[in-house]
Amino acid sequence: AKGEKRGTCRSFRLGMDAAAQEKTRLENDFRDALKLGQLYVHYQPLVDLTSGAVECFEALLRWHHPVRGSVSPDVFIPLAEEIGLIDAVGRFVLHTACREAQNWPEHIKLAVNVSPLQFRNGNLISTVINALTSANLPPERLELEITEAVLMEKGPRPSAIIRNLRTFGIGIALDDFGTGFSSLSYLLNYPFTKIKIDKSFIFDLERESNSRAVIRAVIGLARNLGLTVTAEGIEREAVRDYLRDEGCLQGQGYLFGRPSPASEMQRYLSCDVRR
Ligand code: C2E
Ligand code: CA
Ligand code: CA
Ligand code: CA
Repeated sequence: AKGEKRGTCRSFRLGMDAAAQEKTRLENDFRDALKLGQLYVHYQPLVDLTSGAVECFEALLRWHHPVRGSVSPDVFIPLAEEIGLIDAVGRFVLHTACREAQNWPEHIKLAVNVSPLQFRNGNLISTVINALTSANLPPERLELEITEAVLMEKGPRPSAIIRNLRTFGIGIALDDFGTGFSSLSYLLNYPFTKIKIDKSFIFDLERESNSRAVIRAVIGLARNLGLTVTAEGIEREAVRDYLRDEGCLQGQGYLFGRPSPASEMQRYLSCDVRR
């Protein structure tokens, strides 16, 4: 029994080593990914829940690893943050997405996710303006999606940067709303233009009356603050109809389209009644 115990302990330690090695390997691979052109951007439509018309495309970063295949951004974005590459990655996404959005009809916006860490080094505004300028894209067509984690950053900087971005006409969406810890009063101190209800609430909507209560509260709050509200993770028509009837005007989810390459966006746009 003693031997068994030791064995378990050793293999546990070996397991830890293997996991650490694995992480280091993935980090090293990611350092090469940008240089080797393994990163690319997909787009997912945000639609008007009443008409079905596309209003916006959200840029979602993808990594094709030569051996592992597709790696989730939920894995490699935190990794990029940890090894100090998130600024370079953020620049890549902004420049790529702004360039590709040039080809879309003018009423269609572009949403780009921004990591809270991109607020730290003071370059975010110039990065965003450079990307817009070099693509000749009006700032009003860009919407940055940030999570409430940015509000936890120390000091007045994040709110000053957000205000500055707003003066250019750039939209600011509060992403993953409802998953964090911030009180609603926080919201009033930041000039958000949109709230995105996290998909966990949308997935639970039919089973959980609590989720329905949260959704109803957020829609009411957004309306009172004059903000747009978007629901992500809509996979079924019944869910779309429920949200629309509750007064949610915009939605995103597999029901309308999965994240796809820019070349496939024409397919969505051909369904757009206002084109
Ligand atoms: P997010 O910003 O909340 O993006 C929405 C996620 O929900 C995307 O996952 C999207 O593919 C997924 N989704 C949309 N509709 C549905 C649906 O109907 N059902 C299901 N099951 N999922 C749906 P994805 O592309 O894997 O991205 C995961 C997260 O990675 C994003 O969550 C975002 O936080 C982060 N991310 C992705 N691209 C970037 C980027 O360029 N920069 C930064 N900083 N973060 C990014
Ligand atoms: Ca997002
Ligand atoms: Ca989300
Ligand atoms: Ca997220």
